[in-house]
Amino acid sequence: MTKPSIKWIGSPNHSAASKKLKTIAIVDHIMQGSLAGTDSWFKNPASKASSHFGVGKNGDIHQYVGLDYPAWANGAVNKPDWPLYTGVNPNYYTVSIEHEGYTGDVMPEAQYQATLALHRWLIELLGIPVTRDTIIGHYRIDSVNKANCPGSGFPWERLFRDLEGGEDVLDVAVLLNTKDDFWAGADVAARHGNCGIFIRPADRSVPKDAMSAKRLILVGGPTTGHPSEVLLSGHDKYGTAAEVKKHLG
Ligand SMILES: [Zn+2]
Repeated sequence: MTKPSIKWIGSPNHSAASKKLKTIAIVDHIMQGSLAGTDSWFKNPASKASSHFGVGKNGDIHQYVGLDYPAWANGAVNKPDWPLYTGVNPNYYTVSIEHEGYTGDVMPEAQYQATLALHRWLIELLGIPVTRDTIIGHYRIDSVNKANCPGSGFPWERLFRDLEGGEDVLDVAVLLNTKDDFWAGADVAARHGNCGIFIRPADRSVPKDAMSAKRLILVGGPTTGHPSEVLLSGHDKYGTAAEVKKHLG
């Protein structure tokens, strides 16, 4: 997993490393302000506030607190709606991401892509499962004073779809009806970068990674319902090979 580009800002506002427990969740926040304003707020000891990361509307990622230290982002617990809350200060077992803007703002694409990359990196680095209880909004910890953090503009559905879908969507999947079609399929695959070859299971289902590819080239039937499917099929492997040859021109 590639680490996104992160600018270190630093903050004196954090607990000792000895308080840090295993990180079990990512907590998402909204800044109710700008990235620059947050930088100075978190650098100010008087604010007694911080988070690990802040993501700007332009896609910049700032870091205030090292992952080995608890940031001061989620300490106040008030009518929580979070089954993983243990009664211990949630700062000790969460990592926090602030987002530039105000509650209800629609997230610009650059900001979305940056926070997605940051989530992916943290999930892999810290071994955080992708569930609705391990990637949460601040409102789950304080449902009274932080009910709008990160607020209605936060793209939960898209984020979960992208996190669950994994990072690597193939440009092209070649799905072989039987392994007899392997050489014909290899000829097709050789034409494309970022391509995978799959063999149709006996139950005729379609492997998940083939179905999520941008384009699906089917060597031998039956059709799959993929939205951009190309079917290359003859009566037998020779007929199919001839169709493949035609397709390749
Ligand atoms: Zn918050």
